[in-house]
Amino acid sequence: MKVAEGVHRIDGVRISNAYLVSADDGLLLVDTGIPGNAKRILAFIERLGRRPDELRTIVLTHWHIDHVGSVAGLKRLTGAQVAIHELDAPVLAGRERPAKGRRAMAVITRLFHLRPVSADLRLRDGDRIGGLEVVHVPGHTAGSIVLRRDDGVVFSGDALLGDRHGGIRPPDPGLSLDPDQARASAEKIRALGFRLLLPGHGRPAAARPRPGPSSSQS
Ligand SMILES: [Zn+2]
Repeated sequence: MKVAEGVHRIDGVRISNAYLVSADDGLLLVDTGIPGNAKRILAFIERLGRRPDELRTIVLTHWHIDHVGSVAGLKRLTGAQVAIHELDAPVLAGRERPAKGRRAMAVITRLFHLRPVSADLRLRDGDRIGGLEVVHVPGHTAGSIVLRRDDGVVFSGDALLGDRHGGIRPPDPGLSLDPDQARASAEKIRALGFRLLLPGHGRPAAARPRPGPSSSQS
């Protein structure tokens, strides 16, 4: 489904959202869903009349399994470069256990046997990739990022979520490494300003006038 100029949310990827972005140098994918979505994502690319090998870059908003689950398969099938924040890269590579990971996420991670992936690009705050600016928003994980396009389209991963009605909700404290930091990062994203929020879960959310800091929809 087209959600913004040059951006599609990939149909059929459940639980979390994966977005395909047309960039100057080919296609860029933001997150990959749970394991088992690689072929679905490639079929979606072909339905758009593009070739799977046009997928040059996969940017992961954070290391959680429902976002990185299909990255190993996609990297193998397309040769795309994989980018993640430098603080989440060691977990993705299987070199570091998700220490202090909240219990629910630790259980989910153990359920799937995630294939380790070594990132080609380790991102930092302020980097640009495929025309998108990287903003570090730690808390949900240490290396959570959002990606901001110059026209105000923001891919927020799990750092700020959508609901089913086009509204915005804060990250789930139970799934966050540091709930206080996650809350502060969610405020930081709101303060950045956006025209359209494309979250890791839930529907796209268009910007609305802010009623005030104390009346968030939690
Ligand atoms: Zn997450």
